[in-house]
Amino acid sequence: MTKPTTTNTGTPVESDNESLTAGTQGPILLHDHYLIEKLAQFNRERVPERIVHAKGAGAYGELVVTNDVSRYTKAKLFQPGARTESLVRFSTVAGEQGSPDTWRDPRGFAVKFYTEDGNYDLVGNNTPVFFIKDPIKFPDFIRSQKRLPGNGLRDHNMQWDFWTLRPETAHQVTWLMGDRGIPKTYRHMNGYGSHTYQWINAAGERFWVKYHFKTDQGVDYLTQADADRIAGENADYHRKDLWDAIERGEFPSWTVHVQVMPVAEAEGYRFNPFDLTKVWSHKDYPLIEVGKWTLNRNPANYFVDIEQAAFEPSNVVPGIGFSPDKMLLGRVFAYADAHRYRIGTNYAQLPPNLPRAAEVNSYSKEGAMRYFYNDASVPVYAPNSFGGPHADPALAPDGGLWEFDPTMVRAGYVEHAEDGDFTQAGTLVREVLNDDQRDRLVSNIVGHVLGGVQEPVLSRVFEYWTNVDPDLGKRVEEGVRAGLDGASTPPPSQG
Ligand code: NDP
Repeated sequence: MTKPTTTNTGTPVESDNESLTAGTQGPILLHDHYLIEKLAQFNRERVPERIVHAKGAGAYGELVVTNDVSRYTKAKLFQPGARTESLVRFSTVAGEQGSPDTWRDPRGFAVKFYTEDGNYDLVGNNTPVFFIKDPIKFPDFIRSQKRLPGNGLRDHNMQWDFWTLRPETAHQVTWLMGDRGIPKTYRHMNGYGSHTYQWINAAGERFWVKYHFKTDQGVDYLTQADADRIAGENADYHRKDLWDAIERGEFPSWTVHVQVMPVAEAEGYRFNPFDLTKVWSHKDYPLIEVGKWTLNRNPANYFVDIEQAAFEPSNVVPGIGFSPDKMLLGRVFAYADAHRYRIGTNYAQLPPNLPRAAEVNSYSKEGAMRYFYNDASVPVYAPNSFGGPHADPALAPDGGLWEFDPTMVRAGYVEHAEDGDFTQAGTLVREVLNDDQRDRLVSNIVGHVLGGVQEPVLSRVFEYWTNVDPDLGKRVEEGVRAGLDGASTPPPSQG
């Protein structure tokens, strides 16, 4: 027998179907408090969508460490044989909640590890680099990729205006316009921590590291034509694929690797190792295997587990620290702030965000940031003489230490020998892509530019690609001019 419907406070209700009215044609009565509760609940069912990465999918899984990297980090989750529960949220960046999964965009790859020393969040992307390198540009960049204020439409002219005015975007835009700009599924893409982090071993030695999650399913992509078709057929294509694969017991996995740079080598490295628009060449810093990360459990409830999931780069654990990467340092502030606004100030106590392998012993108490109450026998202040928790620097992550010049400046990154906005983009085009991939790169760029880019931005687009690679610039200009000559109205292209 099914259970009786009740109010939120447990009283059986009279009807799920009819409101209380004065006669069959009379007004609805205000003291139908169950109706009022039902409508009030409905009005509050959504939290604001994320300003970026609004559309996503996620799952639970685990990391199993298969190699010994203890000489680089004392972090418990990376010790030989360690097994740590994990949560991931994959996402697109610019699209809203209902937007098609197959739009060309980088993909978020945000991972939470429930470690014995508290939660560790690695809030990465499926790209090893990013469009910008200073967080002060982030709001400008995102606005240029979203919608015009007047008509509410996305606008390629605005996108290319920003990209061409900030040439440090070239590496990521080259990547985005290539095959990997539309992964076949979330299972068929790599994940990258992207930022440079710090690892600290038991002896206190420090190393710079970059994370690489290499898909065991193989990297695969969708062509623009296939992606456009699928966007119309099933906007949730990637979310469904991930869910179905896990339901079938076909658990997707990634082999986790790191690149490790001894701290003393950073200053002399040919690229500034803290610049998020650059990679460290695999030839200079080969990948070191760490372990296997597998997704094996779908969320019990999408809203609870995935929509409320709050990833924050500020969540580091002993053995892991930050670096002089300004984007990382900006994110360390911004994410917790975003969660307090979006989900509510008690977000850290919601199911996906609660530590699962570590105890919480904080002096936080009462008010909107708290759902749980503290044991009344524990003092509410520190220091105290009554056995309350005490801060122990020997146990705490120190955020990572590094040397710096303490003069206050507003300046770009120090340029290393081979730095430059276009260097690594050019390497990608000339040395990594094959002829077919280069052809699709040209075709994707041309199609995107024909989606509404006008002068003076258009001339800058040609210059931008010529700076990446002269031959590529020539082909893009030829393709765009041919397209403009052949059509009085440029063909629409999705954003
Ligand atoms: P390598 O030749 O050793 O590495 C090139 C890497 O490029 C590959 O290992 C692969 O990385 C990645 N790659 C392959 N096909 C594509 C594609 N279609 N689109 C984007 N990336 C692709 O050279 P380097 O390490 O010296 O790097 C050369 C260039 O490769 C860089 O300028 C950068 O643009 C790109 N790259 C480098 C990465 C790095 O961390 N060093 C990572 C990704 C790209 P993966 O194994 O991660 O799939």
